[in-house]
Amino acid sequence: MSINPISRRAALSGMLAGVTAAMSSRDSQAAGTASTPSKRNKIALEEHIDFPGGEHLVFHPTGIDDAHWRRISERLFDVEQFRLPAMDANGVAMQVVSLTANGIQGEPDPRRAIDLARTANDWVWSKFVSAHPTRFSAFAAVALQDPQAACKEAERAVTQLGFKGVLVNGYCNVGDENTGEYLDLPKFAPFWECVQDLAVPVYLHPRCPLPSQRLIYQGHDEMVAAMWGFGAETAAHALRLITSGLFDRYPRQQMILGHLGEGLVAMMARAQRRFEYTPCGKHLDKPLAQYMRDHFYITTSGNFHTPTLDGVITEVGIDRVMFSVDYPYEDMAEGASWFDGCPLEGQAREQVAHLNAQRLLKLA
Ligand code: ZN
Repeated sequence: MSINPISRRAALSGMLAGVTAAMSSRDSQAAGTASTPSKRNKIALEEHIDFPGGEHLVFHPTGIDDAHWRRISERLFDVEQFRLPAMDANGVAMQVVSLTANGIQGEPDPRRAIDLARTANDWVWSKFVSAHPTRFSAFAAVALQDPQAACKEAERAVTQLGFKGVLVNGYCNVGDENTGEYLDLPKFAPFWECVQDLAVPVYLHPRCPLPSQRLIYQGHDEMVAAMWGFGAETAAHALRLITSGLFDRYPRQQMILGHLGEGLVAMMARAQRRFEYTPCGKHLDKPLAQYMRDHFYITTSGNFHTPTLDGVITEVGIDRVMFSVDYPYEDMAEGASWFDGCPLEGQAREQVAHLNAQRLLKLA
């Protein structure tokens, strides 16, 4: 029996709506009639940009069609030509923009990383946030290669530029491309203290596994990135944060995961069961799933699938799920028309469309 606002029968009709929507993939195309508040007022939280001088930080997917990649690259820098018209056409009132993967986490030189983070945030502020304050907000880029510097930049971005949180693209390279540091390591304590004090969420965004740790994908370049590797990497990273006791040490810290939870939500029950048999010295105050419900928000970015949305709402609750697209990697019209057609109703629909994001990010 379904215990959330999407009934099983309605889920099927939502799935069909998603399939229909997938046939339309022009970002300038309207998602449908903007007749209800949720169809006009959507807030999208995993929407990416690049900045001049940051081109080398952009992950280039293997095997992508050249013309398609040029289209994406063009849109990473764009504000007025494609992005705002697509938002208008599809009822996206606001994008919370962030530097695309690998972003600052892919810069192995700590000194350069610090400078690039500052440059990226200043660019976002001038081109997006201050130029269009009612349409754009932002997550800060930070150089976790130096946790104290990351803390300083997060504080500057939030208190001076008005950014709403921090987005981190997975582990951080330090020194070279095969050295990575995950955010549960003790050295990152100053960063977590800082963001908890600022009372802003951290969006844990995917990247590929370290180049030296891709045996499982050998001969399968198609799997290493967004098809599978992104989710596997990010789910494991989020689970590391939980089992490290991070949220017992920082009980007010909030996180965001995209892509309907990177597969992690579906695995929580089994993870809990086996963690109890083999905790390997780890001690947590609460069951794993409770950390998900207390510390994680989940967005729909790039995973426009009603049965999965249904499961995520059941696991984490309707007040922790938020609409997103993953523009320009995903098509805004497709994401918006799936969401506008999925069988969420009434208050539940408004919560996912914009109310949860407004509350979490303290948006007007
Ligand atoms: Zn993304």
